[in-house]
Amino acid sequence: MALNLLISIPFFLLFVVNPFHFVEPRTLEVSEHPFTRTLRKLKDINKGQRVRGVGELKSYLKKFGYLTTNDNSSNNNHFDKNVEFALKEYQVFHHLRPTGRVDAETIKRMGLPRCGVPDIITPQNHKLKGLVILANYSFFSGSPKWEESKRALTYTFVSSANVLRMYDVRLATRNAFQSWARASNFTFMEMPSEYNNLANIVLGFHRGDHGDGYPFDGPGQVLAHTFAPQDGRLHFDADEPWSIESTSWNVGPGWNVGWDWRRWVRPRWQSRRTIDLQTVALHEIGHLLGLGHSNVPGSIMYPSYEGVKRDLTQDDVDGIRALYRLPN
Ligand SMILES: [Zn+2]
Ligand SMILES: [Zn+2]
Repeated sequence: MALNLLISIPFFLLFVVNPFHFVEPRTLEVSEHPFTRTLRKLKDINKGQRVRGVGELKSYLKKFGYLTTNDNSSNNNHFDKNVEFALKEYQVFHHLRPTGRVDAETIKRMGLPRCGVPDIITPQNHKLKGLVILANYSFFSGSPKWEESKRALTYTFVSSANVLRMYDVRLATRNAFQSWARASNFTFMEMPSEYNNLANIVLGFHRGDHGDGYPFDGPGQVLAHTFAPQDGRLHFDADEPWSIESTSWNVGPGWNVGWDWRRWVRPRWQSRRTIDLQTVALHEIGHLLGLGHSNVPGSIMYPSYEGVKRDLTQDDVDGIRALYRLPN
């Protein structure tokens, strides 16, 4: 009996006490987006080459404001000097080495889910000879903003697809609105959806082509988009794995693990990457109010989704206060 106990204790310790038993590299958990597979085929190709997939890269750079050619990008696989320059601009904005090539760092960055609003909005940027280096927050072209009389804004929800419980959606978005209210002189109040014609802001979940000229792209890449003031439309891509949890990783029910371990201790078949609604809502409301993308890593207005972020940073606060001329 005593011997049995002695033998079983080490096994018990091995399987129960060691929390890292199920640890697996995080990258194994997330399936690769088709665009990332395309980029891998373009790794380190040179200017002047024609390679299948360059057209897709051009479409990506065009969509997010880095390339302004009029050719039918998706059919043109020529890696020309414009693509090289646009890649350098992308790399500078994202603090990568400006190699002008599809290198490993660039593939990784372009593979992250992100906001659908372009990073470079001012067209005259492209007329500059040098590379565009933004120092911090930015505004939309022409700095549109809500007029003076509109500081008490109303919002409502109109969706063409249901993905989360309405209670959770309302909670996550209310928290996000409150963060911006604390940093500015705006207030936000929800209205019942039957008054959507009267509300200043209409939020909703939609999938694919949803009638505004900016179709969503299914799971991955673009998560949401928002129109500049005073339009008031904010759309979430219904095909993303939205979540309102405090962590960006789902854990199956019945796993009694500490909060800090959730990201690491999980059976593989129950795990998948999720996107935190409050984090994305906080970012998109910044656009609703007139902010463009910031190139400050870690700021809410940074274009890529890098996990749960629910607090405005100094750069975000500086941006909104500069746009509405509020004292710091
Ligand atoms: Zn954005
Ligand atoms: Zn839309």
